[in-house]
Amino acid sequence: MESDNLKREIVQTDTPCTYNYFLNCLNNLKEAFPFLTLKVIGKSVMGKSIYGINLGCGERKILSCGAHHANEWITCTLLLKFAENYLKAYQNDEYMFGESVRELWNKKTISIVPLVNPDGVDLVCGGIDKNSKYYKNALEISEDFPDIPFPSGWKANIEGCDLNLNYPAGWANAKKIKYEMGFSKKAPKNYVGDSPLCAPEAKAMYNYSVFNSFCLSISYHTQGKVIYWKYKDFLPEESERIGKELEKVSGYCLDITPVESGFAGYKDWFISHYNLPGYTVEAGEGENPLPLSQFDEIYKDNEKLLLTAIKLA
Ligand SMILES: [Zn+2]
Repeated sequence: MESDNLKREIVQTDTPCTYNYFLNCLNNLKEAFPFLTLKVIGKSVMGKSIYGINLGCGERKILSCGAHHANEWITCTLLLKFAENYLKAYQNDEYMFGESVRELWNKKTISIVPLVNPDGVDLVCGGIDKNSKYYKNALEISEDFPDIPFPSGWKANIEGCDLNLNYPAGWANAKKIKYEMGFSKKAPKNYVGDSPLCAPEAKAMYNYSVFNSFCLSISYHTQGKVIYWKYKDFLPEESERIGKELEKVSGYCLDITPVESGFAGYKDWFISHYNLPGYTVEAGEGENPLPLSQFDEIYKDNEKLLLTAIKLA
């Protein structure tokens, strides 16, 4: 029933993002919008499915992903809520931020991977049994890094590999930098892994991206209200122009990635592999994990950003 979907909030934004919560959201979205296509793009270390949600039927494809980093799980909620509102607007032939969603839908397809790191997010959100071997192993890893709170400071996948340092784009540089910072083994954050794409979650993103040939990507992180758009000296056509539009509509600042985080991320791989616009958006402001009290503001800024990216891609 259209009117029911209009009123009902499907994605609750007052709940931490456990994997159960995530699956419930997907099921409820699928039930409300049966035309929605969900695809399992790979499995996590613990065997959880990593999902891609396709919105639209246009030839030009855009990717947006969230929660590479475990304690940045609010980006998963952000993308789920965006999917819900985009679906509602499509179904009811409405406008979002001045754009006809039906028009966008027919011209472009946005593929959303809200939860790249389901195990890590589950760890931070209290979804993993404390007696499980995975929890105990993570706790053991964290004991060598007493300055990083456990589990709230955890960014890596469940095995202590930082997924956004596991892509084949200057991986050896990232390794050198992070080793010198003291992250030369499995850690709650900043460990690059044994080799590029050794983590199944990063491999899933890689395969999904190669299969789809996206023309633009937006990878969500928290925090800082910053949009990173560069990798080394690559200057994809339109990248700066689109970046400046994203800056304008979101109020976030377009900036250059700090050198210590400048390699082996998803955006770095996307830009260097395709020479196409790829962005890392650091949503919100404060200490990770950002509180859900910040959700509405984060959503408002990034709904405009995502619609603008879909329009300009
Ligand atoms: Zn991050």
